[in-house]
Amino acid sequence: MRGSSAETADIAGTGQVIVIGGGIAGLAAAHRLLDRGARVTVLEASDRLGGKLLPGEIAGVGVDLGAESLLARRPEAVGLAREAGLGDRLQPPSTATASIWTRGALRPMPKGHVMGVPGTASAVAGVLSQEGLARIERDAGLPRTEVGDDVAVGEYVAARVGREVVDRLVEPLLGGVYAGDAYRISMRSAVPQLFEAARTHTSLTEAVRAIQGRTAAAAQSGAAGPVFMGIEGGVGTLPLAVADSVRARGGEILTGTPVTELRRTGTTEADGPSDGGASRTAWRVVAGGRVLHADAVVVAVPAPAAAALLRAEAPAAAAELAAVEYASMALITLAYRRADADLPEGSGFLVPPVDGRTIKASTFASRKWGWIADEDPDLLVVRTSVGRYGETEILGHDDEHLVDVSRHDLREATGLSAAPVATRVTRWTDGLPQYPVGHHARVGRIREHVAKLPGLAVCGAAYDGVGIPASIASAYAAVDALGGDPRGVQELTAHPVQSLHGGAGE
Ligand SMILES: Cc1cc2nc3c(=O)[nH]c(=O)nc-3n(C[C@H](O)[C@H](O)[C@H](O)COP(=O)(O)OP(=O)(O)OC[C@H]3O[C@@H](n4cnc5c(N)ncnc54)[C@H](O)[C@@H]3O)c2cc1C
Repeated sequence: MRGSSAETADIAGTGQVIVIGGGIAGLAAAHRLLDRGARVTVLEASDRLGGKLLPGEIAGVGVDLGAESLLARRPEAVGLAREAGLGDRLQPPSTATASIWTRGALRPMPKGHVMGVPGTASAVAGVLSQEGLARIERDAGLPRTEVGDDVAVGEYVAARVGREVVDRLVEPLLGGVYAGDAYRISMRSAVPQLFEAARTHTSLTEAVRAIQGRTAAAAQSGAAGPVFMGIEGGVGTLPLAVADSVRARGGEILTGTPVTELRRTGTTEADGPSDGGASRTAWRVVAGGRVLHADAVVVAVPAPAAAALLRAEAPAAAAELAAVEYASMALITLAYRRADADLPEGSGFLVPPVDGRTIKASTFASRKWGWIADEDPDLLVVRTSVGRYGETEILGHDDEHLVDVSRHDLREATGLSAAPVATRVTRWTDGLPQYPVGHHARVGRIREHVAKLPGLAVCGAAYDGVGIPASIASAYAAVDALGGDPRGVQELTAHPVQSLHGGAGE
C-alpha cells in the first residue's frame, strides 16, 4: 500500500485489507473495499457466512431462519442486493396488514403511528382502553418534556401520551427490532426521528402528525416505494450473493478461521518495507493458527468479540465495547398442511409483554412472502419468537417446549389447533445488541479511540442501528474512514439509523 502520508490508510491501489467477520457488515465492507481497489481477505470464525442472516428449509420449502426483511426506505440493503445480482429477486411483502394481540383479542395494527406513537388518539382506538385514549389527548396541553442529550423511549413517550401507548404499542414494536425494554432503550439511537421531534416540538402527537405529513408528501411525489423488501429464496441469500461477488472480483474469504489476535506492527509486511524508509502502521492478525499481515483491518464482529480483539491495541475502545449488552431470543418455525390450518388475514401479529403471553410475535410467513407460498401452495409456514432482554428463563427450555408454548399461544390468538407437519427452533444467543440511553455517546467514544489507530475501522450492528441497512451503512462508513474520509462515520455517530424490520405494518 502506498499512503499519501505515513498516517493515512490509503486503500486505493494495492492495499491489503483484512475484514474480520463474515456477517453482512463484513461482507458489505469487503464488497466496497474491492470497489475501491483494495486487496481483501475476509476471515470468518464459523463454518458459514452471513451471521444473523441464515437461509434454511422446513418441510421442503426455503425459509429464513434469521433476519427476513429489509427496510427499503434506506438505500443500503436493497442497493447491495442489486449490486450482488439479486435485483430481480427483491420482493415486497404480499400483505402489510398485521395485528396486535392485546386485551384478549387480535386487533388490527393501527396504520398511523411512528414506532407506535399515534398522531391522534382515534388512530389507536381499537388497541387502547378508554383511559389510555383519554391520556393521549392530554399531550397537547402538557408543558414541554426535556429530553437532554438522550432519554429512554418509554420514559419520554409515557410522559407525553401515557404508559398504555408504551406498553401496548411502542414496546412490542421496539421489541420486534431489539428484543429489548422500551424503558431502557435510547430514543436518540433507536428512534432518532422521535428524538429530533422531541427537540423541536412540545406536543408529541403534533410532532408525529408533522412526520406523517412529510411521509405522505414523499409518497405522493412518487419518491416512496415499498417500505420493506424480502428476497426470493430468503434474505439469508444476500450475504451468500455478496460473498460470490467478492470472490469473483478476487477477494479471498476464509471460513472456520476465528481471529484470536490483532496487533500493530511498524511496517507493511504484506508489501515489504515502505519506500521512504518511514515506518507505517500495519497489522498482524492471528487466525486459525495462521499469521496474516495487512495495511488495514475492518473489525466487523459483535461487540464482545470486538472487545477481545481490540484489548491489546485499543484498550479504552475495548472496555466500551465490553459494556455493550446483548439480548437472546429464539425463532420457532412451524409448517402446517394448508388444508388443516386456517389463520386470520394479515402478515402476523405482535404481542405486548404487558399481556403476559410467552411468544412476543408471530409472522405468517407464507402469507407475508409470496415466494414461500409459491414454493408449496399446500403448506402454511408460521414463525413465532420468544425471549427478550432480561427474560432468558424461557430460553432455558428445550426445543420441544418452545414448540409447545408457540402452539399454545397460536391457538389462543388465532384458533389454530392443527398439528404442524414440521418444526424448527433456531436459537440466537446474544443475537441483538442493546442500545440503552447514552449508547450514541459510547459509540462516539469507541470511534474516537479507534480513529487514533491508522488503518483500523469497526462496523456492524453494535454501533449505529441493529438492522441490516444500518449494519451495511456502518460498513461503508468504515471503508470511507480507512480511505481518509471520516465524514460517513461522523454522520452515523451523530445520526444513528432507525431500524425497522416490518413486523407489523408500520
Ligand atoms: C433473529 C434475528 C432476526 C433479525 N431480523 C432482522 C430483519 O428482519 N431485518 C433486519 O434488518 N435486521 C434483522 N436483524 C438484525 C440484523 O440481522 C443483524 O443485526 C445484522 O445482520 C448484524 O450483522 P453484523 O454483520 O453486524 O453481525 P453478525 O451477523 O453477528 O456477523 C458477525 C460475524 O462475525 C463472526 N465472528 C465473530 N467473532 C469472530 C472472530 N473472532 N473472528 C472471525 N469472525 C468472527 C461471526 O461468526 C459472524 O458471522 C435480526 C437479528 C436477529 C438475531
